[in-house]
This record gives sequence, C-alpha cells and structure tokens, in this order.
Amino acid sequence: MQQDEFSYHFEVLDAVELAVIVLEVGDDGLPRYIAMNTKSREFTKLEHKDYAGKTALELYGGATGRRALNQHLAVISSGKEATYDIVLPTQHKEKYLSTTLRPVFNADGRLVYLVGSSSDITSERERDEALELTRMALDKAEEASQAKERFLANMSHEIRTPMNGIIGMCELLQETDLDEQQRLFADTILNSATALLGVINDVLDFSKIQADKISLHDAPFSLQDLVQDVGTLLWARAAYKGIDLRTDYPADAPHEFTGDASKIRQILMNLLGNAIKFTEDGHVAVSVSYDPGAAALPLRIQVSDTGIGIEPSQLKWIFSAFEQVDRRSARVIEGTGLGLAITQALVERMGGTITASSVPGQGSVFTVALDLKQPDHHLPRPTDDAAAVFRDHRQALNLQPSQPVPELPPGALAGKRILVAEDNRTNQLLVRKMLKSTGAELRFAENGRIALEAYKSEGCNLILMDLSMPVMGGLEAARRIRAHERSAGLPECPIVALTANAQPSDVEACLAAGMNDFLSKPFRKNELQARILRQGG
Ligand code: ADP
Repeated sequence: MQQDEFSYHFEVLDAVELAVIVLEVGDDGLPRYIAMNTKSREFTKLEHKDYAGKTALELYGGATGRRALNQHLAVISSGKEATYDIVLPTQHKEKYLSTTLRPVFNADGRLVYLVGSSSDITSERERDEALELTRMALDKAEEASQAKERFLANMSHEIRTPMNGIIGMCELLQETDLDEQQRLFADTILNSATALLGVINDVLDFSKIQADKISLHDAPFSLQDLVQDVGTLLWARAAYKGIDLRTDYPADAPHEFTGDASKIRQILMNLLGNAIKFTEDGHVAVSVSYDPGAAALPLRIQVSDTGIGIEPSQLKWIFSAFEQVDRRSARVIEGTGLGLAITQALVERMGGTITASSVPGQGSVFTVALDLKQPDHHLPRPTDDAAAVFRDHRQALNLQPSQPVPELPPGALAGKRILVAEDNRTNQLLVRKMLKSTGAELRFAENGRIALEAYKSEGCNLILMDLSMPVMGGLEAARRIRAHERSAGLPECPIVALTANAQPSDVEACLAAGMNDFLSKPFRKNELQARILRQGG
C-alpha cells in the first residue's frame, strides 16, 4: 500500500471490527499516533486529542508505554510485520489484545506509517487461564494423593516400630516370673497391642483399596486346605464363646484353583470373624459349592451364622466403609467398620460378587461368588517358592499367635555369627533377648554403612537388616553387600529384612535388592528364630 492510497482509506477503518491504530514515523525516526478507529478508541478510552502526535511512551508512560514503543521500533528497524499480545489496563479488568503491526512504505520505499490491527482475545486468554488453573489444581490433587500415600507408608512404619517394641517386650515379660496380677496386666497389654495392630492393618488395607492399589498374585492353591486352615485358626475363638464352627467342603468339588490365596484367606477370616463376633449361641459355618454348569461365577463360598442378624434397613449399608450397624441398646462392639468394605473390594477386584441376607434374631448368610480357574496340572504348586512365601508374609503375621512354630532348642545357633543392622535401641534389645537362648553371636550395626563395613571386615553367617536407617538404608546396604560378594567371589550371605514397612511393594523391593527373606514388624520370638533357621543362619 502506498501513502496516497492510504489517506483515502482512512475513514473506512471505522467500519472494521478490528481495533486499528495508525502511527506516522517522523523525521526523527519515532512513530507517533495519528489515528485510532472507533473500536480502538473503545478499547483504549482515548480521544483524538489524547493520542494525536504522541509516541506510545508519551501516551501510556511506564512499562506499558516502553514495551509498546519498543515493539513499534522493532517493526521500523526490521521493515517487517510483527504479531504480539498486548495487555491494556482498563478500568475493570485487563484486556488482552492480539496485535499485528505492519509497516507502510511510500513510493521512495521509505517507511512512513505503522498500521496495527488488534483483536480482543480476553475471553480466550481467560479460558486458557481457567484451563491452566484447572490443570494446576489437578496436579496439586495428584501431588496430595501421592503425599497421602507416602504419609500412610511412613505412619505405618512409625507405628509398627514402637509396636514391635511393645509386643516383643510384653512377650518376654510373660516369660518371666510374674504373680497373678502382673500376668493379667501383661496379658492385657499384649491383647490391646495386638488389637491395635489389627486396626492399623485395616486402615492401611482400606487406604490401599481407596488408592486402587490392590494387586493380585495368582498362583495354584488348595481351596480345601485354605478353608480348613481358616477353620482351625478361628476354632479356638468360636469354642471360647461356646459355639460350633463347621466347615463343609463337598468331596466332589474341585480342591485346586488358581487365584490369590492370601486375599481369599483374608476374605474368609473377615467373614468368619464377624460371624463369630455376632453369634452367642448355635454355630457358624463355611460351606463351599461348585457348579460347573453355572453361566458365571461357578464357585460359591458361604459363611453363615445363627447370631443376632442384621435389620433389613441396615443390610444395604453394611458394605460401606465406616458403617457399623446401629445397636444403641447393645454394648459397643469392637471394630473399625472397615472389614466388610475391604472384603467387598477384594471380592470385586477378583471379578466376583458378595451378597448378604439375614433374619434378625436368627442369623446371617454372606455369599461370595467367584470365577476361579482350575490350574493346569503340569505346573507345580509353588508352596516352597520363596517369593510365594514372602507374598504371604502379611498372612504369616496375622497367623503368628496361633501358629505352632516351635522355639529353637537352647544353643541351637551356637557358634553362628549374626549381623544385626538396626538403629532403634529398643529393637536391638529385643533381638538380643529373643535370640539369647539360641547362643548366636550377635554384632549390632546402627546403620547400613556400618553393617556393610562390618560384613566386609568380619563376615557373618546371616544378616538381619532393618530397612529404614540413617546414613544408609537396608536396601542400599543389601545391594552393596551383594556387589561386594560378586566382586570378591564370595558366596551370598543370607539377608533377612526386618521391617515395619509391611506393604507388598516393600517385599518386592527387598527381593530386588538381593535379600532372601522378609519378616514384618512386629514379629514374635519364634518367628524370628524360624526365619533364621529357614535361611540356614
Ligand atoms: P467391623 O470391623 O466393625 O466389624 P465390618 O465392616 O466387618 O466392620 O461390619 C460392619 C457391621 O456389619 C458390623 O459392625 C456389624 O454390625 C454388621 N455385621 C457384619 N457381619 C455380621 C454378622 N455376621 N452378623 C451380624 N452383624 C454383622
């Protein structure tokens, strides 16, 4: 466009929807406003007399003016059009304009005008900002949920460590000479501590379920053995209340299935535990049935009782978290109200269903329907596979009180050197006391680095390794010990992790770091001894 043509088109600009400005480049090389169309005057709230003959710096002043002038000068010096965003401070809120500034040359090729056209992009900008804010909020929420998980893992550790001290010391206390009253006190402490541990496990399980963190470890197992085991475990609890515990496993139903045995055990323990808890007379029963012709979910496990039952109005709530049937008249019943929520989540995670029916005053029936595959018989059952044993470690923990793991005879570990990497004084003392009768020679290390150095210089027959220690943690220490053994051509010394981190991912981390076994705190004396024996300490 040429200068003379340009003058003709001047008033036409008012008809344009875009905001248009025209600047004239003076002999001093500075661009000064000579025109703004209607739209532009609307945006800037400026009249001809306000802007005419002024540079952007003179017109707007400050940072806004300097920025605008620089943009104008940049187009003059390059001789090329440029597009940029500008922010106009208006009375109510800022206005965002996307501006394209073009140079206009005269017949001699001299740059005489700058013509800018701007469109209002405030709403797009606002939308982008809203999107950005949403994105930031989502990031924050994600961060918060990760922080929550870390918090739970830490809390789990922080709670289990002192619990280990309480339960362990209490067991040792029970072995000393106590009068009747002292024995009652010690028993009460132990029972309370064990109950507290149950609550903690429930809460941790539940938070894992909420975070969708349940992973299944399928392997062949015998459902019949599992039902028997659970029955044996809870038999004493039922007998104590004077009720019968029956298990019914039809001879013609298959025994072997592929599935996550520890989760199924947890489901049965919860249902049967509740049945016993809410029954005062009669019996509780577990019965299994298998219908190969069923369209779906051929396996059914029913837990029934002749207890107090559940009101129809309450029945629909019992699988919700934190719900306990309102029994104002009855005494407060122990429990977190999480058991059935966890049970339902586990069943559904396996693709099954759980339902409940009940006649108040007569009893309740909980039915779990599952579609477990029957194993391919060429595969051996991995009962002795160390990894499977580790996976069941939570179970091992739960079963400990009734598990008949014998104590080692006195002096059974005489002459064995055991390196104990553990920073907590109480736990050091506990391990010392628990292993005292075995005659093992103990060497304590307060952190992983000291343990590594002690192992390199003195060697040992077995290492008990805490996971979280100052300076160097257990995982790192185990990796370095394995690296040292490889480079020195030494055989692998058995390493047993002793840890309050009771999550399956921790077990996997221990295995990945080269450790051989895993004992979750709080552990019992006979459990610790059994682990050491199993690892040939
Ligand atoms: P809790 O850990 O408190 O027992 P659950 O989720 O396992 O929580 O159970 C929720 C509630 O459902 C219990 O408090 C109880 O009132 C009721 N309930 C569960 N099982 C039975 C049963 N077999 N008989 C009667 N009531 C039951």
